[in-house]
Amino acid sequence: MAAVAYPLEVRASHATAVSHSDPPTPCADAVIDSIPCGVPQGPAVGVFALQGDVREHLHVLTRLGVDAFTVRRPEELARCDGLVLPGGESTTMAKLARTFELFEPLVERIADGMPTFGTCAGMIMLADRIEDGIEGQETLGGLDVTVRRNAFGRQVDSFEGDISFEALDAPVHAVFIRAPWVEDTGPDVEVLATVPEGEAAGRIVAVRQGSLMATSFHPEVGGDDRVHRYFVDHVVKS
Ligand code: GLN
Repeated sequence: MAAVAYPLEVRASHATAVSHSDPPTPCADAVIDSIPCGVPQGPAVGVFALQGDVREHLHVLTRLGVDAFTVRRPEELARCDGLVLPGGESTTMAKLARTFELFEPLVERIADGMPTFGTCAGMIMLADRIEDGIEGQETLGGLDVTVRRNAFGRQVDSFEGDISFEALDAPVHAVFIRAPWVEDTGPDVEVLATVPEGEAAGRIVAVRQGSLMATSFHPEVGGDDRVHRYFVDHVVKS
């Protein structure tokens, strides 16, 4: 089989990226006494935690000063000002959400405008329509897009590279792992990033529609918090 050429390859310059397991930055000495050190001042942002790379998102959100916590039950969902749907396996996420009686509450909160950020499998969960899903695969929906699962092909399980991201001044180092892409978008969907070159050039890999945002890639790995910061500052707080 011919090799598939994707231009987004591992770049050695990113080996210095900060580990996502670093602890939250401690408060500087000069910090005002009335702000207790280590206590999050930001909005309450839950991470769907029945499956997926939950811990990585919690680390990023905590670094941003957000009150970040896991969501496995409807009571935890009720606390959320915003929600992250992590990467993982969308078929399993949907089934577990049903089992834990979180599926309908999630659909309702998302439809109600709760700011929600889906990464990779999380993007699939937010999509109104999917291609290459398994028989009967359910999504929470809300995003007026068609998403193709495992779109980059099985021979390209994971790859990474720099892409421009709307509203961020420098490129984002994007990690793709059995990633979907957005096949088509409805009229209210804003495209935030596309693949810059190669066979997949022009494919949509980040979108926003009002309170919903999704990326095909994993901004929670690699220590660059800017995509999450965009979500917290421009979607959750807007
Ligand atoms: N291929 C996975 C799915 O269909 C997504 C992979 C990921 O989240 N890294 O759900």
